Amino acid sequence: MTPQIDIRNVDKHYGAFHALKDINLTIPKGAFVALVGPSGCGKSTLLRSIAGLETISSGQLEIAGETMNDVPPRKRDVAMVFQSYALYPHMNVLGNLTYSLRFKGVGKDEARRKADEVAAAIGLQDLLERYPRELSGGQRQRVAMGRAIIRNPKAFLFDEPLSNLDAALRVHMRMEIRALHDRLGATSVYVTHDQIEAMTMADHVVVMRAGVIEQQGAPLDLYDRPANRFVAGFIGSPAMNFIDGRVAAGGTAVELDFPGAPALALEGRFDPGRPVTVGLRPEHLAVGAPDAQFEAPIRVVESTGSLAYYTTATAPELMLVEQGRGRLRAGDTAPLRIAPGDIHLFDQDTGATL
Ligand code: ATP
Repeated sequence: MTPQIDIRNVDKHYGAFHALKDINLTIPKGAFVALVGPSGCGKSTLLRSIAGLETISSGQLEIAGETMNDVPPRKRDVAMVFQSYALYPHMNVLGNLTYSLRFKGVGKDEARRKADEVAAAIGLQDLLERYPRELSGGQRQRVAMGRAIIRNPKAFLFDEPLSNLDAALRVHMRMEIRALHDRLGATSVYVTHDQIEAMTMADHVVVMRAGVIEQQGAPLDLYDRPANRFVAGFIGSPAMNFIDGRVAAGGTAVELDFPGAPALALEGRFDPGRPVTVGLRPEHLAVGAPDAQFEAPIRVVESTGSLAYYTTATAPELMLVEQGRGRLRAGDTAPLRIAPGDIHLFDQDTGATL
């Protein structure tokens, strides 16, 4: 089937600065794709290139089978939803919803009918007469969504749409956006720097760094099988712990540069003596295991009631997590254990997963 959005070998230069490097991304109809990465990685540039707000320097960009490289934004039939909402302040909700239809020459009654339909779908029926200044942040965000939906676009492009909302509303809105996407059978591309948002909303997560796609795939595949140390450290919360080490003689265990730690058994066989970076996720390090393999003194305890986070007093420092209120206090020693299948190994020079 023709992909809804197809990006092939796309590069973008801003003068001498190389912002997108050989980007390849195929988005099937109905997919929800998140572009995620640290500030400056190029995720907004990629989204804006799909929208036509940036011109790509080379490569091929298709929407629904048509080449879009030189097509102006208004002819691409995609709808952007921004963090700033970009609502018209002098128009009420109804005016904001129907503006694009009226602009296209749709009659007043028909526009009103569609606005009522969209307003009902996203819970804005009672707010049609209000002006943006009379709405909460969540309601404004919903109007911005409604304005995109009413156009029935080929794709929705979201640029950090929830950044202005408080934590509870963010969690609520991300479920709402995903549910709406499913109900509409939409195709969505969603930019965020928040990996939890990306993991919980998207079917397909694209991790970017410095203009390059480091890895793309299903959220839990990225978590289970990160391609390299960068993705391993970026996906997962709290972040993976990294410790230097080397593969032990025999190739089936790893020695850690960590005080008092024995060689840990591995799944599989590696080059004996090879220097490696060892990755251990906090949630995989069993705290207080009776058959502990090593231990670490605790320096800081942060408890949320449902989870306790421990920072160790070791070098390198480890982050540990325990269910519940936490049994340990600062100054206690945490007995630790990890299963062979939960140990990640990375090349010390390239960061590639071994
Ligand atoms: P953030 O999360 O901070 O928005 P981002 O991943 O969305 O980051 P982009 O906005 O895509 O990053 O920018 C990628 C890089 O391109 C940055 O280093 C930025 O400084 C640079 N850049 C963006 N727009 C321009 C421009 N018009 N001229 C020159 N450089 C630009």
